[in-house]
Amino acid sequence: MPLPKRCPLCYSDYYLQDVVTSHVFGNQPGRGNAFFRCKSCDVIYQYPGLSKQEEEKFYSAEFENFMDARSGKSGGWLNSENHVLANEKTRLRRMKYLEKYLDSSKEILEIGCSSGFMLYPLIEEGHNCIGIEPSGIFSQFLERNKVISFESLNDFRKNYKSIKFDLIMHFFVLEHIDQPLLFLQQQLSLLNPGGKIIFEIPNVADPLYCIYDIPEFERFYWSIAHPWYFSKHSLIYLLEQLVSIDYEIVLDQRYDLSNHLIWARDGKPGGMGKFTEHFGIEMENLYREQLKKIEKCDTLVGIIRKLE
Ligand SMILES: [Zn+2]
Repeated sequence: MPLPKRCPLCYSDYYLQDVVTSHVFGNQPGRGNAFFRCKSCDVIYQYPGLSKQEEEKFYSAEFENFMDARSGKSGGWLNSENHVLANEKTRLRRMKYLEKYLDSSKEILEIGCSSGFMLYPLIEEGHNCIGIEPSGIFSQFLERNKVISFESLNDFRKNYKSIKFDLIMHFFVLEHIDQPLLFLQQQLSLLNPGGKIIFEIPNVADPLYCIYDIPEFERFYWSIAHPWYFSKHSLIYLLEQLVSIDYEIVLDQRYDLSNHLIWARDGKPGGMGKFTEHFGIEMENLYREQLKKIEKCDTLVGIIRKLE
């Protein structure tokens, strides 16, 4: 197994880098990559990472199929309209913390907008929304539904040289990006003063991993699609590298108690809401709140404000 010479985020030395696992979900046999954790900044990263060629191949052709296999039928990655419907609960969960920033957000950019499910209600409310979406299936759907979208940020820049945004958002994108600091810096340059970047990423302190320690989940969790896994600690390290901003990290729990019971029973994903009718929505909410309170929950929300 090739070993990293230093941490790719904080550049700490090789002796501070520990192997987390060599089981990488979606790996080709014989690639020899693994996940390592840096004892200094706490980030977990894949080493060696995907080459540019492997990355392009992965994203252009394999991403939706890969995600469909991971999310089960309910995710609806292969059918854009189903994707919008299947993600309505996700949209409402996000709106709980997004709402308060929308009054001052006229110009909105979503990077990785997929089917556009976050954007349609915002467009209806009068926001100007632009999406970035590399997937061919989704971009055709976006065009049909009159969402201006581009394949990449570079592509967008070529077409819109002077536009600045009040809100840039991305959900489960940052952990896929080779150079996350550069990625956030580029977004800051596209923001109006006082503008926000709001994003979600997986929290490595996922209860299925760090409380229940379900072996099948462990095999599934460390994915070839992710160069990085952040904790609250390592996300703070990353955000501290940005200048002229302030930031806040909010904890959230996406998956419910039913999903966790299915993981424990069947060792596979799925089951969202399956048992809710038996133990009630209050129990689901209490369970989520408790996981957030003890900071063992599956999602980190970063809120960055560009200083005026
Ligand atoms: Zn480090």
